[in-house]
Amino acid sequence: MTEANLQSAALTGNRVVVFSDLDGALLDHDGYSFEAAKPALAALAKHGIPIVAISSKTLHELEAIAPEIGLSEAMIAENGAVIKFSDGMIDRAVSRVAIWEVLDTLSEDLRSSMQCFCDMETEEISDLTGLDNTSAARAAMREATEPFLWHGDEAGLEMIGAKLALKDLQIVQGGRFFHIVPPRDKAAAMKIMLAQFEEQPESWALGDGPNDLGMLLAAKRGALIANPHLDTRSLLPDDHCLYLSSREGAAGWCDAIAVFLEG
Ligand SMILES: [Mg+2]
Repeated sequence: MTEANLQSAALTGNRVVVFSDLDGALLDHDGYSFEAAKPALAALAKHGIPIVAISSKTLHELEAIAPEIGLSEAMIAENGAVIKFSDGMIDRAVSRVAIWEVLDTLSEDLRSSMQCFCDMETEEISDLTGLDNTSAARAAMREATEPFLWHGDEAGLEMIGAKLALKDLQIVQGGRFFHIVPPRDKAAAMKIMLAQFEEQPESWALGDGPNDLGMLLAAKRGALIANPHLDTRSLLPDDHCLYLSSREGAAGWCDAIAVFLEG
């Protein structure tokens, strides 16, 4: 799909809101570039279609990058756990302290196999994510979730999951990290955001990870962006109607928006 196709693409029917994952989707998995998505971003802007970021990133991270990319001021952070509405109101599904209280009850063996954001200095987060120190500090400012690297086995991870479940918390897998999250996932947060509109808009959702699938399947139109690091496609139900991009990251995102704009 060329830039010329995107510019001429006609959009008919309902008002649309795009819900987009960032890392590995609108932003390339390596390097965080959105250069290849620019033709699609321009086309969406031309049609007045807002893009709500829906990401594992924190609100502080999203607010820092939203103006450059042209994202909506309404945004969904921390995998759905934190919602910022267009009027600036913020809703958190759980407090991060409640998560730490569960971590404090784990055996030392399990806890020492976890490398949580709360265990790390900003420099460590910077090294692991490739973010500069300022961005890493924003990533560390979690409000309702806890990302972690897991150095143990599958059984240990399941034991932690069982402990968390007692407090209505769970573990989801993102692009690089596991995340301890409340039950409000991206799909649930998207529905809450959509309910704020007086006239129900059409939802388009894009993402690349297993934690995006619920959102992609719940949206009116969903696009799974190819990611060589994640085996997400094998998790799809046989009867799905998602657009599957062949290109990765921002280029695949651009292809998906071009197809959606064509109708
Ligand atoms: Mg992603």
